[in-house]
Amino acid sequence: MTDKEKLQIFRETGALLEGHFLLSSGLHSNVYFQCAKVLQYPKYATLFCEEIASHFANLEIDLIISPALGGILVGQEVARLLNKKSIFTERIENVMTLRRGFEISKGERVLICEDVVTTAKSSREVADIVNQLEGKIIGIGSIVDRSNGLAKFDYDFFSTIKISAETYTANECPLCQKQMAIEKPGSRKIGKM
Ligand code: ZN
Repeated sequence: MTDKEKLQIFRETGALLEGHFLLSSGLHSNVYFQCAKVLQYPKYATLFCEEIASHFANLEIDLIISPALGGILVGQEVARLLNKKSIFTERIENVMTLRRGFEISKGERVLICEDVVTTAKSSREVADIVNQLEGKIIGIGSIVDRSNGLAKFDYDFFSTIKISAETYTANECPLCQKQMAIEKPGSRKIGKM
């Protein structure tokens, strides 16, 4: 798939909204992206995860690990395509934790999967868990890289597409200056697809 085809799928499924948005951080942006909207459709999950799976397919991998919640669908699909185990971490009182009896054995070769990498915080926390258990990190695969080039890892980092978004404080937002109505994502009804 080309970037253009991917963006088209994101727009059609309502995953990618363009306009004037109030983000949960309080910043304003011209773009809002919600990966869960595209992953609603298993056929699209497969299409995007196939790219991640094929990027890492020639490496020896024992298991896939993802951070809850968004990463789980991606990890599970990549694991299905590579016929590997899939486990996930979750945040308990804000601390990333491996629960549910999931285990990583010393020396196991682990691929981290994400839906969207923005600040890379979740990926780094998952990597810390793998390292503490003495697993070996093979790489990080993500559907979208939204970090504007800021996500840098010591591991092979592959994303199927980069989506850049401009963010502004309310005071310096050019969209506010144009008096464009602002929307809070999640409260908007998606119209025509
Ligand atoms: Zn604004």
